[in-house]
Amino acid sequence: MSAPPTVLVIEDEQTIAQAVAARLRSEGFAVEVATDGEAGVEAHDRLRPDLVVLDLMLPGLDGLEVCRRIQRDHPVPVLVLTARDTEDDLVTGLAAGADDYLTKPFSGRELVARIRALLRRADRAAAGSTATGAPTTLAVADLRIDVGARTVERAGVTVHLTPTEFDLLVFLVRRPGQVFTRAQLLTDVWGYRDGSGARTVDSHVRALRAKLGPDAVRTVHGVGYGLGATVAATGSAA
Ligand code: CA
Repeated sequence: MSAPPTVLVIEDEQTIAQAVAARLRSEGFAVEVATDGEAGVEAHDRLRPDLVVLDLMLPGLDGLEVCRRIQRDHPVPVLVLTARDTEDDLVTGLAAGADDYLTKPFSGRELVARIRALLRRADRAAAGSTATGAPTTLAVADLRIDVGARTVERAGVTVHLTPTEFDLLVFLVRRPGQVFTRAQLLTDVWGYRDGSGARTVDSHVRALRAKLGPDAVRTVHGVGYGLGATVAATGSAA
């Protein structure tokens, strides 16, 4: 791309906001900072950034509500920053449309690596929606997946998946009968190279099960995840 990617940072802690902005600018990103939720939503609608770095704990409109609002019209990759490291918060945050999270304190290097991976994936998704060759519609069990339009129907009813949930589902549906470690999924679906973030995978699997049924994704203990038997056994990728 010609213009540098635009990143919107929504973070009320000035020292963190300024450090993140400085680091991202030094990496060649265009950066804007918003210091509360309302300003963040306003800046998002005005800028249409390529990615949003979103603090979960904000005064006024909290991070989860900001995430819902900015994801309402069109998907934008969201990396959540959280000081709270509990499963509930993560699952809720990811279900609200965030693609990944970093727990404070985090290194600038890790932040940049995550952002670049998310942007690569967004580029790939955009390219994939216009590419020819691969089948654009997948039908397994009661699921119908339009890969080009990035939509999923379950028994004829549209299911709203976040971009990452969608990518994870398509990855598994295209490889029925195979089991993947969390590290493999992070590499192949998230585009991470260091294999960290296993709980991100767990959170997304949990979200997929909540939306598509508990047996949509199976756990192979000690190994990882695969397409669930109820989905894999009743059909094959069309
Ligand atoms: Ca905060």
